[in-house]
Amino acid sequence: MSQVDLQQNIEGQKARRHALQTYSIWSLLRNAVSYHEGWERQWRAPEPKRAYDVVVVGAGGHGLATAYYLAKEHGIRNVAVLERGWLGGGNTGRNTTIVRSNYLWNESTALYEKAMKLWEGLSQQLNYNVMFSQRGVMNLGHTLQDMRDIERRVSANRLNGVDAEVLSPAQIQAELPFINLQSRYPVLGASVQRRAGVARHDAVAWGYARAADALGVDIIQNCAVTGIRREAGAVVGVDTARGYIQTSKVAVVAAGHSTVVADMAGIRLPIQSHPLQALVSEALKPIFPNVVMSNAIHAYISQSDKGDLVIGAGVDAYAGYGQRGSFQTIEHTLAAVLELFPLFSRVRMNRQWGGIVDVSPDACPIIGLTPVKGLYINCGWGTGGFKATPGSGWAMAHTVAQDQPHELAAPFALERFSTGHLIDEHGAAAVAH
Ligand SMILES: Cc1cc2nc3c(=O)[nH]c(=O)nc-3n(C[C@H](O)[C@H](O)[C@H](O)COP(=O)(O)OP(=O)(O)OC[C@H]3O[C@@H](n4cnc5c(N)ncnc54)[C@H](O)[C@@H]3O)c2cc1C
Repeated sequence: MSQVDLQQNIEGQKARRHALQTYSIWSLLRNAVSYHEGWERQWRAPEPKRAYDVVVVGAGGHGLATAYYLAKEHGIRNVAVLERGWLGGGNTGRNTTIVRSNYLWNESTALYEKAMKLWEGLSQQLNYNVMFSQRGVMNLGHTLQDMRDIERRVSANRLNGVDAEVLSPAQIQAELPFINLQSRYPVLGASVQRRAGVARHDAVAWGYARAADALGVDIIQNCAVTGIRREAGAVVGVDTARGYIQTSKVAVVAAGHSTVVADMAGIRLPIQSHPLQALVSEALKPIFPNVVMSNAIHAYISQSDKGDLVIGAGVDAYAGYGQRGSFQTIEHTLAAVLELFPLFSRVRMNRQWGGIVDVSPDACPIIGLTPVKGLYINCGWGTGGFKATPGSGWAMAHTVAQDQPHELAAPFALERFSTGHLIDEHGAAAVAH
């Protein structure tokens, strides 16, 4: 047995041992007896192999979910997820974690509702608590046109079997007694999806990573992809910071860096990368029962389980790769939040950060094949892809495994920008989280 084969054998054995480490009340008790010194690492740190059946570029939630479903649903386990930083360190670990499926258009609803159904069983499926909390998401309406759009979207949601209600100002006030309905942005009503809510972003990345690793997927951090090699129009391998890796299938799931990676294969994507910011306050006692979003004024607010107010802003107008953003954007967001919730005026903000979101012309994702054989793309989620993580991974894994678009992914093909068959969520949720 060669040194490489031996190493792979050892890694395989470690993966199988991980697979046996089930999290439950019993394992907690068992490990308590041994002072919690017996827990296995959650995933391995393998050396890259010389060749894989599939290489996934990017260990965000979408890339990890893609790898997990490739292994779990399609039996393709010789998979590497290559990450230039640390897993979950991109937008996945930086977002405000709003999960909902109340989109306007049929194509979007089908995809996000598939994700919602997967969210509803995800902690059990992964044996990892992703802290999915269905506390309800309200979208506020501030103008008559907002209210017309809300009525239209709620009707469309119901026709598609997605739960949705329209709330009057009095009903909103009953749930949020401290909201100021008569502000500079008067609140005329809202839509609410009760099954919507939030999840713990890191746990989603960690849960998928652990489950994929247990199925034999190699997750390789600090391993930037620097080139995509092709022969006769087909992918043959990738250059990385840790050497060349042979593969005939590359799935690019690199969010804000999608254009940079696609460029390595000579593909120009219709994507712009923009900074998007969020911030959290000091911890407060439980006060905020649900999630409130206002697309019109770009303010999104919820309270985390540890008590911080979690506040999301709108995108910075300029394109950029800085994981921070302009001060005036947070200033504008906080002014809007305080108009709606004046009682937070003396709450101190603790931390602020930014991510790089990948915005497509119709504010919808791109999932599917590319003109280069063996190169697949998953991007364009912009400001709202966290909620899609399980559905995106599900559809992407099928697309890669079968070499043809999953039915949920088909409407989101790259070609729509040349055929003109856009989906256009601009009407409903252009910059919504
Ligand atoms: C502040 C903020 C708030 C948000 N709020 C919400 C919200 O409330 N709800 C919601 O649904 N969505 C929200 N989003 C959007 C959401 O976070 C993203 O759409 C989603 O997380 C994208 O996941 P991903 O796995 O595709 O990307 P990422 O998590 O960004 O993963 C991509 C990975 O690719 C890696 N990578 C890039 N280039 C290379 C390379 N050359 N080689 C190897 N690896 C590479 C990156 O390092 C990164 O880890 C928000 C985003 C931000 C920034």
